[in-house]
Amino acid sequence: MAFRPGTPCGLTTYIRVPRLTSFVLKYNRILLKLSGEALMGQQQYGIDATRLMQYAEEIKAVAATGTQVAVVIGGGNIFRGVQAEAFGLDRVQGDYMGMLATVINSMALQSALEKLDVNTRLLSGVTIQRVCEPYIRRRALRHLEKGRVVIFGAGIGSPYFTTDSAASLRAIEIEADVVLKGTRVDGIYTADPEKDPTAVRYPEITFDEVMEKNLNVMDMTAFTLCKENNLPIIVFDMNKEGNLQRLLDGESVGTLVSMHGSEAYRSARPSTLQPAVKSTPDQQA
Ligand code: UDP
Repeated sequence: MAFRPGTPCGLTTYIRVPRLTSFVLKYNRILLKLSGEALMGQQQYGIDATRLMQYAEEIKAVAATGTQVAVVIGGGNIFRGVQAEAFGLDRVQGDYMGMLATVINSMALQSALEKLDVNTRLLSGVTIQRVCEPYIRRRALRHLEKGRVVIFGAGIGSPYFTTDSAASLRAIEIEADVVLKGTRVDGIYTADPEKDPTAVRYPEITFDEVMEKNLNVMDMTAFTLCKENNLPIIVFDMNKEGNLQRLLDGESVGTLVSMHGSEAYRSARPSTLQPAVKSTPDQQA
């Protein structure tokens, strides 16, 4: 918001007025990472229209509160580079195919958001002139400041990386306050909750503890980027309706991974940890 009074000498003075929302929001700017697989819903492949619209509605609600929203979507529902190797194809070629898959998902999300009258911009790490803007950091920042939902397609634009790495890197570049990793489980557990019924959820945990315990949060490149840049990650269940907003409202949703964690965690006894919440079949993706 800019106040623009004329001055007696004919010059124009701009006075920056901070957004009122910045005083009340817990996170001003978020980077939401969605996996391609989550977009499949109950299908074996591709995009589930209901799931796509659910995500778009949740993003719309959050953006309407004044939170600046950037999104990275994976491509696992369409293609992953490692699959190319399994077919006997070239890995690098496969990775580019995977990146293009993320652009397809990004275009679908952009379209779903626009259907809901949300202003969006799709910025791609691989130049595809006809359908999206190239990724330019300053341009991304400008779009966010204008309240547009920015979708980063094509990962970081280089093979041998994942969209988790893209999420971490872009979040650092745009100075996001947090990476929100939307998954089909409601956080990080002491063990795989689908295999071990005694598994409990960590409400909070430190980067070091994740490494010590060899817990699977993101791939190591993505995780290290967050750790070295002190960028918190929240792993949460994006398939549970309203979870994204609840999380931003400050409710204890998912698991927060940060530099310091909390005292509650450090002296964690099982009673301070949360029991496993199994996803119902229709929440799984
Ligand atoms: N990819 C890549 N570089 C990137 C991001 C993605 O090469 O910066 C390729 C890689 O082959 C990856 C695929 O795109 O497997 C799809 O992304 P990802 O596996 O991260 O999707 P998700 O698991 O989140 O659905």
